[in-house]
Amino acid sequence: MYGAPCVEKLSAEQKERVEALRARGRGVCLAVVRVGDDPASEVYVRNKKNACQRLGIESREIHLPGSVSQAEVEECLDKLGADPDVDGILLQLPLPRGLDDKAALTHIPAAKDADGFRSENCGTLICGGEGTLPCTPRGILYMLKHYGVALEGKHAVVIGRSAIVGKPAALMLLGENCTVTVCHSKTADLKEHTRRADILVAAVGKAGFVTGDMVKDGCVIVDVGINRTPEGLRGDVDAVSVGDKAAFITPVPGGVGKLTVAMLMENVIELAERRTGLTEA
Ligand code: NAP
Repeated sequence: MYGAPCVEKLSAEQKERVEALRARGRGVCLAVVRVGDDPASEVYVRNKKNACQRLGIESREIHLPGSVSQAEVEECLDKLGADPDVDGILLQLPLPRGLDDKAALTHIPAAKDADGFRSENCGTLICGGEGTLPCTPRGILYMLKHYGVALEGKHAVVIGRSAIVGKPAALMLLGENCTVTVCHSKTADLKEHTRRADILVAAVGKAGFVTGDMVKDGCVIVDVGINRTPEGLRGDVDAVSVGDKAAFITPVPGGVGKLTVAMLMENVIELAERRTGLTEA
């Protein structure tokens, strides 16, 4: 399951929606706040800016020095929150040591939360209603549907329970009527669970963690991991030993990562549409 065809399809629709907003005299604007000089964050922010440019979305990058105080980061987010021209705000994580990610995120208004990390937005996964969903799990679901993977009644096993990938992915799969098992570092006999998965989502952060002996024939594998190794970027799945066992697998790179950026664009456009009254808030 390659990301590129999904992104191509999404981009065509997204360009039209940006055009429709512009026709109403309304540009779309994403503000990205980057703190410090983490090289990986710099690459991620560049990818996001390029995606904005391709769709005609204005992207504003606010780069604060690593020596900035918590209050200064929060003041910057407050200003963007009050700026009527800004539709979406993203705080690139992780913040440098000494700064509090969670406290800073509360300074992004829920109605401008492009990443869907605010508790008001995550909460819609449990309580329902309109909200902005986290980009990576949203991309996972989009990919599975794009490639025609049947979800209802299937056993989905998610390895990882982070607030940005594992937990929301599990809730979204549950919303699609999968039966969901969530595994984590304290799970006893992980293999016993993963071998029963029709759909396996690996969001662990360990290169080649999922091996062929952990999966059953015909399973669908979504490899979320992005691990920098001396051999280059590697996923959480050992594609060699998994080999032909999987019916579908997402590559790393070229899989879920591409969808994460595309879903960020989707979120920003949705936020702009809501603020313009084109969709229900
Ligand atoms: P995270 O916050 O570090 O969470 C990792 C999860 O893996 C935790 O829940 C942890 O369990 C679990 N885990 C660790 N060791 C385990 C083990 N031996 N057995 C079972 N579970 C284990 O990471 P994350 O933010 O969710 O990201 C996961 C991976 O996805 C990373 O490689 C990250 O770079 C990548 N990622 C990719 C994208 C993308 O766009 N493709 C987006 C976001 C993240 P505990 O909760 O018990 O510690």
